[in-house]
Formats: sequence, C-alpha cells, structure tokens
Amino acid sequence: SAETLSTDAAAVAAALDADAAATVARLNSAFAAGRTRPVAWRKAQLRALRRLLVEQEAVFAAALWADLGKNATEAHTTEIGFTLNEIDHTLRHLDRWLRPRRVPVPLALQPARARTVREPLGTVLIISPWNYPLQLALSPLVGALAAGNTAVVKPSELAPATSAALAEWLPRALDPRAVAVVEGGVPQTTALLEQRFDHVFYTGNGTVGRIVMTAAARHLTPVTLELGGKSPVVVEPGADLAAAARRIVWGKFMNAGQTCVAPDYVLAVGDTGPALEPHLTAAIREMYGTDPAASPDYGRVINERHFDRLAGLLGEGRLVTGGDRDRATRYLAPTVLADVDPDAPVMREEIFGPILPIVRVPDLDAAIAFITARDKPLALYAFTGSARSKARLLAETSSGALNFGVPTAHLAVPGLPFGGVGGSGTGGYHGRHSLDTFSHTKAVLDKPLRADTLRLAYPPFTAGKSRL
Ligand code: NAD
Repeated sequence: SAETLSTDAAAVAAALDADAAATVARLNSAFAAGRTRPVAWRKAQLRALRRLLVEQEAVFAAALWADLGKNATEAHTTEIGFTLNEIDHTLRHLDRWLRPRRVPVPLALQPARARTVREPLGTVLIISPWNYPLQLALSPLVGALAAGNTAVVKPSELAPATSAALAEWLPRALDPRAVAVVEGGVPQTTALLEQRFDHVFYTGNGTVGRIVMTAAARHLTPVTLELGGKSPVVVEPGADLAAAARRIVWGKFMNAGQTCVAPDYVLAVGDTGPALEPHLTAAIREMYGTDPAASPDYGRVINERHFDRLAGLLGEGRLVTGGDRDRATRYLAPTVLADVDPDAPVMREEIFGPILPIVRVPDLDAAIAFITARDKPLALYAFTGSARSKARLLAETSSGALNFGVPTAHLAVPGLPFGGVGGSGTGGYHGRHSLDTFSHTKAVLDKPLRADTLRLAYPPFTAGKSRL
C-alpha cells in the first residue's frame, strides 16, 4: 500500500541520514584531533593522489570511456593530466601560500603586530557532476586537502563507472580517516546536505545549486557554486575566420559539447556568420573526419534523457552541418545551425551538447546588448582583431571569465581563478584560489600590554585625549 511505501521511504531516508551523520562525525573527529593540520600530512595526501592517478590511469581512463566514450588522450588532457598539473602547482607553491602575511598597524595602535593566518575550515562536502567526473571531483579535493580539511566527495551517479572507481581507489590511496567517498544520487546527497559541513562545494546546474544553497543556509555553511549557463562566442569581421573556426570547434565539440565552459553559441557580428559557416564545417571534418560516428576522438551524450533533450533542440534555423544521430549509441553529430532565432528553445537553455547555433547581430553594440540582457555567462569568448572591441567587451560585460582568441583554455592557467558570477555561480577555485576557498583567513593582532599606549583612548574623554 501507499502507506507501507512511504514508511519504507522514511526508513531508507533515516538510514541514509544515520550513515551521513556517522561519516561526518568520523571526519570531524579526525579534524578535531588535528590530523589534517600538519603541512607534511597535506603534501603526503597530494603526493598519494598523484601516485594513484599515475599508477591507475588505465583504470580511470577506462571508466571515463565507459561513462562518456571519452578518448584516452582527451581523458588525460582534460581530467587526469589536468588534475596532476593542479597537484604539482599546489605542491610547488603551498608553503608560500600558507605563509602568514604581515599587515601594517596604524600609528595609534602601535606598538603591535598584525598578520593574517590561513586556517582550515573543518569538514567540507564536494558534490561533483558527470561531465568531467574525475577532474571536477578531484581538483576541488586537491584544494580542500592542501588547506588542511577533511572531505566528503560525492561523485555524480550519472557517471557510474567513474564514481565506482573513485569510491574504490580514493580510500585506498588517501587517509581514510580524513577523506570519504559517498556514492549515490538524490537521496544520498539529500542526506549529506542535512549534515552540518564547514563548506559545501557544488558543481552542477543552477536548479540543484539552489537546493544546495538552501540546505547550507540552515547551518550557515558557506558555499561555492560552480554552475553553468550559456557562454557566447563573439566573432567580429577582421578576425582570421579559419583559425577562429578551428578553436571554436575544438572547444565546442570536445566531450561532445558537454563542457560547462564550452562555447554555447556564436554571436556573429555583421557578415561574419555566412563567412564562418564553411570554416566551421571544414574544421569539424579536419578533427573528426567525414563520419564523426567512426572517430575514436568523438564522445557520446551521457544518457538517453539528455540525448532526447538535445534532439529536441535540433530543427531550429538552417542546418549547416551535422544533425545525424543514433539514440542506441547516444551519438549526435557535431552540428552547426545558422540564422537561429534568439528566442528559439536552443537559445533559451544551456545546450550542453554538440549543437552550435549561430545568431547574427548587426554590430558590437548589439552583441553587447544581447549578452547583458541575459544571465551572466560562465565564460565569454571573442575573436576580434580590434583592440577597441576587446576593451569594450572587457568593460561593458560581466562573466566568470573573458578569453580572447581561445575558448576554455583559461582553466589550464593555474594562476587564474575559475568560477562564475551571478547565474553562473559564486566563488572560484584552482591553485591559490582553492586555498582561499577552503580556508579561513584569520586576522591576528598581538599588542604588548606595556607600554600601555591605549591609555590615551580610555574614558573619561577629557580634553586633550587623542582620537584613534
Ligand atoms: P549532475 O546531474 O551530475 O548533478 C550534479 C550533482 O548534483 C550530482 O552529484 C548529483 O548527484 C547532485 N544532485 C542532483 N540532484 C540533486 C538534488 N535534488 N539534491 C542534491 N543533489 C543533487 O550534473 P548536472 O547538474 O547535469 O551538470 C551539468 C551542469 O553543470 C551544467 O549546467 C554545467 O554547465 C554545469 N557545470 C559547471 C561546471 C563549472 O565548473 N562551473 C563544471 C561542469 C558542469
């Protein structure tokens, strides 16, 4: 009966809550015991993670292939090798990043010494999505461990092979008292979000982002939200269109378009739309051949639900190239649509798949107006030969990142923060910015009791007393 079902569901939820509470309690006590504080422990964890990725690269590459048909080279560049770079960069600079910083003290408070000290937050929760299921679980973890936290990693259930590989290998390689992997979907994540964490780091869509932020608010837990949205590519007359097309095609169709910072659509200024089309077609052929279904380098859509959603977005505008699809293998060809209506469904939601619409705008003013009328993008890309256009895009638009001449590559610059603004997210990470995210910068002031220079500030406020 319905009543038994709901009692069962309640029992399951209660069991999941108890599991989640036990996991967090275990990590909290490791943190309270000071286990994660020593910098030597942190570095040992990062080195152990490095070793795991190097030694078991084949295991993780096979999981990424199973989940996403991800080519091993692409898996290395965008996931495994990417995380190794993040580890190396962190190991190289960690001592410097952790050094306390002297801060000048105003004359009226002297003598005294002021400094800032980074302290770990405690136990953090990392919830990651399916599209880069390894990188987006592990590169936040690098920051969390470097900052001296314990962490729960919740991989995406939609990339089950990678989730299972992380659950199997992370506890073997890392300190199991400080790092836990919890697999599962909505019920498991909901149970985790009931717990009090010291930070929640979420990567995924904005709808769930709201759920995460609401749950965290109940505990006054700060959040980082790495969300998505539509990242435009502005192409202006005067840009080298053949070269621009190759870069756009590379950034768009890697991982079959399922990249949070993939170029979502082209805003073609003036006559560049029709001029760009043959170059896009040529670049797709150059990279994936005449039959991308047969290319070992071209990925697949994650699941049938997303395949059906994407198939429903076709049929807008004029088909320039692509459109072929096969539901059984979740293959959707690299597709370019021209003359797309700005109000078409494909322009109303994040595409997150291998469909590239081209929208024509008369001039840069119209392009800027188009961008600023919508949610702030995670990334904005532009191909232009004009320094003035670059300056205008920089000053007149807001986005998580702004790249000229190359999409997505800002991720690979470890000194740049990675994150969104407004609808595309809040907070950022990578390298030293991960340390900012996963630590508290504590203000420390130390003033000797003698000489008692503050006497001048104490009441009674008789004439002649100084004002601090
Ligand atoms: P997803 O479906 O794997 O969800 C992400 C995580 O949220 C998973 O771990 C999932 O278990 C959890 N989740 C789902 N529903 C939940 C609920 N009701 N309560 C609690 N947790 C829940 O991935 P997705 O959201 O489809 O990912 C795609 C989106 O993520 C796109 O919008 C993309 O742009 C964005 N994204 C952003 C970045 C970034 O770094 N900014 C990176 C990758 C993807």
